[in-house]
Amino acid sequence: KGKRAFIAGVADDHGYGWAIAKSLAAAGAEILVGTWVPALNIFETSLRRGKFDESRVLPDGSLMKITKVYPLDAVFDTPEDVPEDIKTNKRYAGSSNWTVKEVAESVKQDFGSIDILVHSLANGPEVTKPLLETSRYGYLAAISASSYSYVSLLKHFIPIMNPGGSSLSLTYIASERIIPGYGGGMSSAKAGLESDTRVLAFEAGRKHNIRVNTISAGPLRSRAAKAIGFIDMMIDYSLANAPLQKELSAEEIGNTAAFLASPLASAITGAVIYVDNGLNAMGAAV
Ligand code: NAD
Repeated sequence: KGKRAFIAGVADDHGYGWAIAKSLAAAGAEILVGTWVPALNIFETSLRRGKFDESRVLPDGSLMKITKVYPLDAVFDTPEDVPEDIKTNKRYAGSSNWTVKEVAESVKQDFGSIDILVHSLANGPEVTKPLLETSRYGYLAAISASSYSYVSLLKHFIPIMNPGGSSLSLTYIASERIIPGYGGGMSSAKAGLESDTRVLAFEAGRKHNIRVNTISAGPLRSRAAKAIGFIDMMIDYSLANAPLQKELSAEEIGNTAAFLASPLASAITGAVIYVDNGLNAMGAAV
């Protein structure tokens, strides 16, 4: 029987979430995605108008099918958490049931269960500021959108995940090594995400037989990465210094996600898996 995946954090065809969706689809999974509410309209319109058709092509020549797109804002757990200004914001008012709890309930109603949960989202309003200049608001917002959002997703989806299922997030080496430019508390958020991966692996493993891992990905020119402003420099740095001197493709992260979600990875949980052309292993620039 085919598996069903829910991938949170897909709003175009440039990011890791899209590539993960494609690799999972190529491996036979049914694809559901969660799209940030303010980005929903343009994503759905583009999908419908065929703007992504070229990047939907799977290795067998067929087009990836996204069975359903759910609006999602992963910084809100329940409708009671949503402040008035967001509720009445016109980019949100057109959608409903987009808090984490409601999305999990909708997926349960529509499909009953899932096997694979992917968290491919992050946000830090002050990411371009050094940590020393980051406000409390900015720091907590980064943690809320980039770390707690994962705890919340897993917490609300675990009851509808089949035993033997697999859950996965995306992290970045700035959690453990100094990457100047990755500011606003985003480095702290990724450190939290990686630590949580271990604790959640224990809790979800013991209680539900679910595996929890995170992929520490190398640099990709996604929409989110372009907003940070240093992505071209990081790609050049990797090309110059990594053991493998090639540009990293999103597909390589997608394929690792498909492996981690499969029975081939049945003993892997609580792990940070580097998919970065080996850059993490270097101790000096060449
Ligand atoms: P991306 O822009 O494709 O994905 C980020 C997504 O998060 C977007 O679709 C955005 O709409 C969504 N999002 C933001 N706030 C949200 C919220 N509150 N609720 C729901 N969705 C929200 O960019 P990406 O680089 O592919 O990012 C995916 C993951 O990969 C992130 O966790 C990122 O930190 C990680 N990552 C990226 C790189 C890189 O170089 N691009 C490297 C390592 C790790």
